[in-house]
Amino acid sequence: MAQLTFDDVRKTFQEGNNEIVAVDDLNMEVRDGEFLVVVGPSGCGKTTTLRMVAGLETITEGQIELDGRSIRGMSPQDRNIAMVFQSYALYPHMTVFDNMAFGLRESTDLSEDEIDDLVTETSEMLDIKELLNRKPSELSGGQQQRVALGRAIVRDPDAFLMDEPLSNLDAKLRAEMRTELQRLQEEFETTTIYVTHDQTEAMTMGDRIAILDHGELQQIGTPMECYYEPANEFVAGFIGEPSMNFLRGTSDGGVLRMEDFSYELSQSTVESIGSTTEITLGVRPEDVEVVPEATQTNDVAVEVDVVEPFGKENNLYLKPEGSDTDDTIIATVGGRKSVNEGERVGMRLPEEHLYLFDRSDGTAIR
Ligand code: ATP
Repeated sequence: MAQLTFDDVRKTFQEGNNEIVAVDDLNMEVRDGEFLVVVGPSGCGKTTTLRMVAGLETITEGQIELDGRSIRGMSPQDRNIAMVFQSYALYPHMTVFDNMAFGLRESTDLSEDEIDDLVTETSEMLDIKELLNRKPSELSGGQQQRVALGRAIVRDPDAFLMDEPLSNLDAKLRAEMRTELQRLQEEFETTTIYVTHDQTEAMTMGDRIAILDHGELQQIGTPMECYYEPANEFVAGFIGEPSMNFLRGTSDGGVLRMEDFSYELSQSTVESIGSTTEITLGVRPEDVEVVPEATQTNDVAVEVDVVEPFGKENNLYLKPEGSDTDDTIIATVGGRKSVNEGERVGMRLPEEHLYLFDRSDGTAIR
């Protein structure tokens, strides 16, 4: 059992006369056995959150509890929590075996034979048994990453904390290790907090994801919830590639007026908007339909400004006809659909796929 609870956790740093709020009133629960990915842009407080759990950073206010017991003030060694860093932090002068055995020798009463068994067993699982006599400098990045993982796993901790552990690997290896890490976590069922700024890792790896911005939790939920039911404009824009399109609009008696076109809303949407007038309309690129010409209500005549081909799909940058701004709307269409730059087509935004946000604070209306 290892459940981690954050209760009104706040972390500030003092820099001269300035107080930097790194984590602001964080409340969340990491369930027993869960793989929670903490994601957000640079500086949003991800690493600080992890370091507070590890005991490498003090907590300014609030509590972090492990199975209901506060770990505030407890030394890192007493927490039985293992951290895997981006830099791997292996001891360069020690062999792989000694790197993996180090923690066990330092903080357990196990005999050398028992340690040998544990290290060998773990190295087999990670496919690094042949490397046990090598030094870290004789390993590839991917192998070093496995050793760093092995060193954490061999201690059988209550929880794993991982800080961008794959960011030094090339794209192919990163993809392989993503699946490998998921497999291992499922096998061990050890509660894991995994920090990344990469939304692909968040979407593919997490049982749930926690999205931070400026030290504040924006949303915590399954990848699908965060993708399809974003709590606010920040989450909607952060998750998804290419990003959601956002258009500023004003709600006016059942019509949403944007800079370049208007959109007639259904009665139920008008009701959910209520008295809010300043709206941001959001639509994901894959939900923007491209039709030969604008024929229906709410269709918009557009020109294809740029075609960005990716093989299996194309991103089309669409510019409403007559627009005097440079703003474009991105549509992702199948790669076999042949559309040329400069072509005039119709853009259709199905109402059921539209997101609406209150522009005053960015919260989702629907
Ligand atoms: P990145 O993805 O770039 O690693 P992050 O989301 O992990 O960023 P943190 O490293 O947690 O962000 O930093 C959160 C905020 O706290 C930032 O504004 C950072 O500058 C500040 N900060 C972190 N550590 C310290 C420190 N020791 N002293 C002062 N400010 C700090």
